[in-house]
Amino acid sequence: MAESKQFDLVVIGGGPGGYVAAIRAAQLGMTVACVEMRSTLGGTCLNVGCIPSKALLQSSEKYEDASLHFAEHGIEVGKLKLNLKAMMARKSGVLANLATGIDYLFKKNKVTRFVGMGIIKGPNTVDVKGKTTETLQAKNILIATGSEVMPLPGVDVDEKTIVSSTGALELDKVPDHLVVIGGGYIGLELGSVWRRLGSKVTVVEYLDRIVPNMDKEIGTQFHKILKAQGMDFKLGMKVVSAKKSKSGVTLELEPAAGGKKEKLDADVVLLSIGRRAYTQGLGLENVGLVVDKRGCVEVNDHLQTAVPSIYAIGDVIKGPMLAHKAEEEGVAVAEHLAGQAGHVNYDVIPAVVYTWPEVGTVGKTEEELKEAGIPYVVGKFPFMANSRARAMGDTDGMVKILACQTTDRVLGAHILGPDAGTLIAEVASVMEFGGSAEDIARTCHAHPTLNEAVKEAALAVDSRAIHM
Ligand code: FAD
Repeated sequence: MAESKQFDLVVIGGGPGGYVAAIRAAQLGMTVACVEMRSTLGGTCLNVGCIPSKALLQSSEKYEDASLHFAEHGIEVGKLKLNLKAMMARKSGVLANLATGIDYLFKKNKVTRFVGMGIIKGPNTVDVKGKTTETLQAKNILIATGSEVMPLPGVDVDEKTIVSSTGALELDKVPDHLVVIGGGYIGLELGSVWRRLGSKVTVVEYLDRIVPNMDKEIGTQFHKILKAQGMDFKLGMKVVSAKKSKSGVTLELEPAAGGKKEKLDADVVLLSIGRRAYTQGLGLENVGLVVDKRGCVEVNDHLQTAVPSIYAIGDVIKGPMLAHKAEEEGVAVAEHLAGQAGHVNYDVIPAVVYTWPEVGTVGKTEEELKEAGIPYVVGKFPFMANSRARAMGDTDGMVKILACQTTDRVLGAHILGPDAGTLIAEVASVMEFGGSAEDIARTCHAHPTLNEAVKEAALAVDSRAIHM
């Protein structure tokens, strides 16, 4: 007879949504268990997503800097040599360290960890199928099972020559020609890593623009910069098949609008057309829960499913598939269960593309404001006119702030440029407080900083930028 254990909250999935929810619930006095089938905590984000990709982006950026930009700073390095094995080992070290950190936080907060597959057996029961099966009883269950790579018919991932993002983080040699299927942020980030390390990179995108949800003006400039860096793009093309050969892969492409097919040879193909919610083997059927047509678990405004004791957060529900969105939702559920307000402001979820330059966005795009008929004013400021960007030698891009024409409230901000991912946080904070462009413009910003470009864009909303 399997042993039964009782908890206030059983979280299924130890990614950023699940582990953060578990810690917050424990802080609030609940007894908490977290069931994770991977041997390490951190989910997609830490194991095969945000962190390994950023580790490689950092390393490859240093490599490109050394090969292209050190000389202009008067630094001579002689012949550069790439040690890919060491680069990958550094990345693995970063992941292992961070995973140990979450283990420590679980111990500190007395979250009980179970390794195995979590299967919902009833509104208050979860089985953990590991080496043995244990049964957990829970006042509440939180589904935080994340997402998986979206497959594409005709393109079979083997994680060697046709890889998903997971395989693209593990290649043991720099491919001569890497073809990325999908012009979203994951494909562009990983494409950038391998281009910097020496690959020719071609991005094939079904739509007629990359990162289609991005503010169009920023997206167009971003596309131009990536092209200038040497990335090739085939837009408006769909991949119909991928045939493996001894030397690599031959893709068959067809114009999305129909027309003549063409072939494209690659050494490695990265399939990166998006991700879909992951609920396989979770036992939703045991409690009568169904998923929507996109495979997502449906929730109400409190992130509660149709079964009142079961909640869901993160990539497995609707909304942007981002780690910080999952974390906010995790905290909201824990606080709601503790009788607090527990709330996520979906209007202020920043998103960042960690290429160089980076792109940081928050709130509405110009196209969204136009479509909604909201009158707005635009303030822009180019990094070319920012003294810190000039000193760094990183002058590509601009800050664009969109403010309400009648109230001056900031409705959106889109930054293409150095450290845009960090800069966007300033505007997100202002938006969270319902602040105006004038609030940013009246705030004293240190000189010389990249943040001064944010201030100048806010001044530009009122046509009074100083350095332009
Ligand atoms: P996940 O992180 O997917 O965690 C879910 C966990 O649940 C997994 O560990 C899984 O093993 C486990 N699980 C699933 N089913 C069960 C079960 N039945 N029993 C037990 N365990 C189960 N987001 C950003 O915000 N910034 C970035 O820079 C970024 N970069 C990315 C780069 C790449 C290459 C990829 C692939 C993703 C990236 N993301 C990024 C997205 C981010 O990883 C996800 O949005 C985030 O991980 C979602 O968190 P989650 O907790 O909902 O799910």
